[in-house]
Amino acid sequence: MQKITVLSGGYGGATFLRGLRHALRTGLLPGADSSGEVEVTVVSNTADDLWIHGLKVCPDLDTVMYTLGDGLDTERGWGRRDETWSIKEELSAYGVEGTWFGLGDRDVATHLVRTQMMEAGYPLSQVTEALCRRWQPGVRLLPMTDDRVETHIAVADDQSPSGRRVVHFQEYWVRMRAMVPAEAVVVVGLEGSSPAPGVLEAIGGADLVVLPPSNPVVSVGTILGVPGIRDAVLATGAPVVGLSPIVGGTHVRGMAHQLLDAIGVEVSAGGVGLHYGARGEGGLLDGWLVDRRDAHHLPALAAAGIRAAAVPLMMTSPEATAAMAAAAVELVS
Ligand code: GDP
Ligand code: CA
Repeated sequence: MQKITVLSGGYGGATFLRGLRHALRTGLLPGADSSGEVEVTVVSNTADDLWIHGLKVCPDLDTVMYTLGDGLDTERGWGRRDETWSIKEELSAYGVEGTWFGLGDRDVATHLVRTQMMEAGYPLSQVTEALCRRWQPGVRLLPMTDDRVETHIAVADDQSPSGRRVVHFQEYWVRMRAMVPAEAVVVVGLEGSSPAPGVLEAIGGADLVVLPPSNPVVSVGTILGVPGIRDAVLATGAPVVGLSPIVGGTHVRGMAHQLLDAIGVEVSAGGVGLHYGARGEGGLLDGWLVDRRDAHHLPALAAAGIRAAAVPLMMTSPEATAAMAAAAVELVS
């Protein structure tokens, strides 16, 4: 059995995983062993999680679960298909704060089940396993940690004596639409967190570790920031391959641009590859895929010791994404 472990955020990671599954089903993946069986483990970012209206919401875990369980609204790229919004409307009618965060009626059922289980004492990893019994995503879905970790973003604020205000990542992204520059990224609780059960084993025991085209700061960056996870990736005997979320000098969707600026990393396919760094030079990557239009970054990546190639990297369909997954495997095989 071949084991592939993917460190995933929400949309970019989930869309990649759907393509990976397509590649596995259609026999496109090179090097799958003769048993033909491949076990995929997904380590999901949980630093986007928030408590709102008394509910524990895990956007990245849910995006992966709904996408692979065929329940996602693919137009929006988040939340449930055939969603209705009565709860949100009723909350608005009461003048309740926080209605900027889109909680659909169907989605709320997931958060109710999760919150109830957590209040009964189950850790997030076991809750996730229980939710996946319904959705059957076809992968083992693990939160990066069972501990509470939350990304907060510092933004400029003239009204505040410090000239800054710190908001939850979801508020920065959903309410403020990432329209103001991010001055700093603070991941509350990260240093004191520990990997969820099975995470280190999934990285150490993998035949391949993949960094999908997820946000390098607030998705892959936070997963790697859980004490022990970066070391496990550095130490694994498996090749580590990544795919650039930056295409043509900016993100395809989301706010990677703002956040890379905040941490001082060049916003380019080459910049992100060099930020992850080369294996053997204290970095993570054996291989790094960039989009065709970013081929001019290949020499700098090669000079840094990263095996890199340029292929089409737009996830326009499961077929196109499957070809990306196959190219990633091929690069480090
Ligand atoms: P989030 O948690 O929903 O923000 O999702 P992720 O962190 O998993 O992924 C967000 C990243 O996916 C963004 O930085 C996007 O640039 C990237 N992304 C989205 N669509 C594509 C695509 O078609 N191709 C590539 N290469 N990256 C993409
Ligand atoms: Ca996310």
